[in-house]
Parts: sequence; C-alpha cells; structure tokens
Amino acid sequence: MRYEGDIYRPPSEAYSYILQITIGCAHNKCTFCGSFKAKKFRIRHLDEVFEDLEMARRYYKRVERIFLADGDALVCKNSYLLAVLEKIEELFPECDRVSIYGRGTDILRKTDEELLELKAHNLGMIYMGVESGNPEILRRIQKGETREQMIEAVKKSEGLGIPVSLTFLSGIGGRELWRENAIDTGTIISEMEPSYASFLTLMLVPGTPLYDQYKRGEFELLRPDEVLKEAELMLENINVTKKCVFRSNHASNYVSLKGDLPIDKEAMIQKLRVAQHHSEMWKDERFRML
Ligand code: SF4
Repeated sequence: MRYEGDIYRPPSEAYSYILQITIGCAHNKCTFCGSFKAKKFRIRHLDEVFEDLEMARRYYKRVERIFLADGDALVCKNSYLLAVLEKIEELFPECDRVSIYGRGTDILRKTDEELLELKAHNLGMIYMGVESGNPEILRRIQKGETREQMIEAVKKSEGLGIPVSLTFLSGIGGRELWRENAIDTGTIISEMEPSYASFLTLMLVPGTPLYDQYKRGEFELLRPDEVLKEAELMLENINVTKKCVFRSNHASNYVSLKGDLPIDKEAMIQKLRVAQHHSEMWKDERFRML
C-alpha cells in the first residue's frame, strides 16, 4: 500500500492489487525505456512487503489478482518470491492469480523445479517485454538478452504451464530497420508460441538514449501509415499453431486491433491495409500515451 516513485503495470492488470517487491529495474539499460531511470534498483525487505500486504488486507474486502512490481521482479531469488507468494496465500485465500514482470534471463536462471514451485503457489502469468525479434535491433536498444534466449525462456515457461504475455514495439527499428523488425518479430512469435502477445507503438521519452539519438538525427521515427504497414508485415509473418491472444489496443497504438491468432489474423491484416489509406482511422497524436 506504500509506493515508491511511478508505478507501471500491464493494462490487463488494471484491477489488480499492485505490490511493489522491487524498486526499479535490475537491467535498466534499454535505450527507449524511461520508466525506471530515476530509481536505483533494490529488492524490498520482506518485512516491509509483509506490512504492505497486511495493510492491503485491512483495506480491501476482496482481492482476486495481485501484480508484483517493479520492472523485472522475477529477478528475485526463489526463496524470496516463495515467501511473498506464501504470505499472499495466507492473507488473500480468494486471490486466484499472481503475476509478475520478468525478463527472459530471469526465467532461464530458474530451474524447472523452481518455476513449478512458484506456479504451485499461484504464480499464473509472467509479463515480458521482448520489443523486437531482430538481433541487431535488440543489440542497438541494449536489451541485454538475445533472440535465442528469449525464445528458450518463453518455451520453458509455457512448457511448464506458466503462461507468458509478451510485448513488442512497432517502430523500434526506426526507418532503417522497419522491415527487419516486422519480419523477425513475426517469426519470433511463431517460434515462441506465447499465450498472449501485444504490439505497442514506440513513443520517444525525453531523457532516454533513444530520444537523444532521434534529436541528433541518428534514429528516424516511422509515420503512422508506416507503423501500420510494419504491423501488417509482422502479422503476415506470424504463424502459430496454438491459440495466441493478440492485442494492439494500447494507448500508444494508432489503430486498435484485437483478436485471437491464428483465426483472426486475416481480418486484422485487412483492417491494417484499409487503415493505411484512411488517416481518419488513426488515433490523434495528442491522445497517444504510454
Ligand atoms: S524495458 Fe524493461 S528491462 Fe528494459 S529497462 Fe525498461 S523495465 Fe528494464
């Protein structure tokens, strides 16, 4: 119930109780991300976290979902995460899902047994920012993990029955690498077969390295119609065999898309094709936000 700094959560956790177990992001190097630049990373002391949970129990009558923040809270050791999950089970028996932000390398660092222990104590979703499937873009944005590592991590988690919700960034390759971003993002989703995938659209955040690159003319933003063309090519390159809930209806997107892959793929591609030539379908720049 006590929060330090700005708090970020996935849109689908809008009604969850947010528990901050870490402050900031342990990686904190991605060139486009300004979310945690003002925070020095640390893991909160368990006593403080338990106090927050007890406060929340007194305040909320019913809590069905809990989201563990900040940036990559899955970086915490399993013993710490288990202690938090067990306390949640004790205080919130009605809670049916705990979710968390994590990086691919966090998933890979944990053994299958450790992940299954977390699952047994109600960890039911890992949110992961992949951003792009293109190795060169991942290197340029200093993602700190490779395409191969992220594919392995998603397959591992999904294979153990912990669904993963992935985000990708339209426009993150700029004008120079838009085609590579589209094709490699489509193919990485095909290889990963995640339960959930969503496209956000890049917005430059002042104070980030990518913003500075843009100001120096080293990075070019795509126009809205180019973003839609890129998304069309991404979708064309997604070939999944099991259901993937697909969303591109974030506040940063120019055109809202919602569907299940593979069955709604063609309808979503058609909408993007039409929208490229109809600017009245685009969200006004003033209303876009992160
Ligand atoms: S994008 Fe994610 S991993 Fe990268 S700095 Fe931001 S919070 Fe950390």
